[in-house]
Amino acid sequence: MSSFETICAELKNTHTTLVAVSKTKPVDQIMPIYQKGQRIFGENKVQEMVDKYEQMPKDIEWHLIGHLQTNKVKYIAPFVSMIHSIDRLKLLDEVEKQAAKNNRIIKVLLQMHVANEDTKFGLDETELVEIMDYYLTNPKNYAHINIVGIMGMATNTNDTNQIRNEFKQLKGIFQFIKNAYFLNKKDFTEISMGMSSDYKIAVEEGSTMVRIGSLLFGQR
Ligand SMILES: *Cc1c(COP(=O)(O)O)cnc(C)c1O
Repeated sequence: MSSFETICAELKNTHTTLVAVSKTKPVDQIMPIYQKGQRIFGENKVQEMVDKYEQMPKDIEWHLIGHLQTNKVKYIAPFVSMIHSIDRLKLLDEVEKQAAKNNRIIKVLLQMHVANEDTKFGLDETELVEIMDYYLTNPKNYAHINIVGIMGMATNTNDTNQIRNEFKQLKGIFQFIKNAYFLNKKDFTEISMGMSSDYKIAVEEGSTMVRIGSLLFGQR
């Protein structure tokens, strides 16, 4: 079995969806997995996602998973299905503005910082509360975005206990947001966590979306 089939088999009886992270890989290496049925692909660079969107079948759901510059949202707003990396209010506002221009609703995840590394983007809990308070007091300003969950990355370490604890933390943050803000929002359901090296732990800890690249497509 290829790694794609192995991963699909592993996820089959879980609540976890596969986001195939195709960044840096050319279309001819991505298409075989599309042909096997994969429809959700993740990219971290705007230009690369636009290029692939133009070249590839239109029933693909494109997920932007990496750090997103505000001035580039306009290029993906016409087609992007989900943005995993909302890490500031200014970005949320820009996604709303560009989604409105395209007469679309874009699904987004709030990216939370839990890893023990300064280099990883994401909100801390204070910033999260600030965004949520603003969002909930101005709901009319956000008619074109749908906050459906959170995203996070664990520390890049061999210490599986630490990784597991960080995933538990993410699950706890998800529950906190759900209870505090979205108790009656039926589609606030997503916890995007887990990559090639740690997705099995993430699934055990309640991930609903794993973002897997190198295991599917080889090292970058
Ligand atoms: C590249 C990337 C992934 C996939 O990483 P792999 O280790 O190749 O599975 C997942 N999430 C984000 C945010 C990424 O940038």
